[in-house]
Amino acid sequence: MTNPSASASPLVTIDRVHAARALAAETGIDLLVLTPGADLRYLCGYDAHAMERLTALAVPRTGEPFLVVPRLEAPMVDASPAGTLGLELLAWDETHDAFGVLAAAATARLGSAPTRVGVGSRTWAEHALGVQRALPGSALELASPVIDRLRMVKTPAEVEELALAGAAIDRVHARMGEWLRVGRTEAEVGADIAAAILAEGHVGVDFTIVGSGPNGASPHHELSGRRVEAGDVVVVDIGGETATGYRSDCTRTYVVGGSAPAEVARWYEVLHAAQLAATAAVRPGVTAEQIDAAARQVIADAGWGEYFIHRTGHGIGLDTHEPPYIVAGNDLPLEPGMAFSVEPGIYLPGQVGARIEDIVVCTDDGVRVLNNGPRELVELPG
Ligand code: ZN
Ligand code: ZN
Repeated sequence: MTNPSASASPLVTIDRVHAARALAAETGIDLLVLTPGADLRYLCGYDAHAMERLTALAVPRTGEPFLVVPRLEAPMVDASPAGTLGLELLAWDETHDAFGVLAAAATARLGSAPTRVGVGSRTWAEHALGVQRALPGSALELASPVIDRLRMVKTPAEVEELALAGAAIDRVHARMGEWLRVGRTEAEVGADIAAAILAEGHVGVDFTIVGSGPNGASPHHELSGRRVEAGDVVVVDIGGETATGYRSDCTRTYVVGGSAPAEVARWYEVLHAAQLAATAAVRPGVTAEQIDAAARQVIADAGWGEYFIHRTGHGIGLDTHEPPYIVAGNDLPLEPGMAFSVEPGIYLPGQVGARIEDIVVCTDDGVRVLNNGPRELVELPG
């Protein structure tokens, strides 16, 4: 059995840490501190689990970056891609002050104590405050202007990881008729989908939304004991994590044991047109909010605007939701390598809903769509 994350991977090179250091210096941040989670995994390939003991990648503006880890977990760093990057490892013992170890090493590299310290946006408060205590002259801020900037633009190798994840979740949707049937509860259907997410090429299930009938009008409804009825419109939004950490996220809307009511079929056509319009608008230089507007305009022009109650999409990578957010007010211009969802929906409260979601990537001259199952209302036998 091979573990893809344990071998030297072209996905993660020391270049990422060096790019973070250069960008921190440019931004005026003296020290970056990243703890377990997607930021740490992105920068050095170490997929550490978060816990009370401090694990952190420290990137001073000058000098060599280093990893602070509990001694009992040092072998896990060596076994991960991080072990091949040549990062100095500062292992601390159970009776050591881990924050003191980090502060002393960073201060030594910088020549004086850091003033501005950027911490990961999902760093636990007890770790952020521990850093603050150990560096009392510093002010903490989010590292996200540096880290998001890097994570937002995927390398070709990362895009291929997202494409594999997309193909895997497409295979799950293609099998939906095996599980989504009249008389079964959303929870039963969801359990089968979760097993299939793992069977089709993921190592973890992130979420399974099965919104049947009126539950489809609640965009983040997950699962319930409601039984699927003949003629139900069912929103199925599912995603998982692959071995390299990249995520899938894809929504299709089904009709089970019957045809869609004429009115639903009518506004579903509008939704479909909106999803295609937003996808077709993706190319370098177009802003995130223009993609949102492309979808919203189609739905609003048809008179359904008030029922499209969320942004059009979110970035995706090592997290399911990450920048760039495809929403009014975000004037970020798209660049080749940016990956995000295009997922307009129409929701009639208490009645019915529908959503169509693909992951797309901005390319040099347009768009690459990573989910390719049919986007029409898919009719399944009861
Ligand atoms: Zn989704
Ligand atoms: Zn999504």
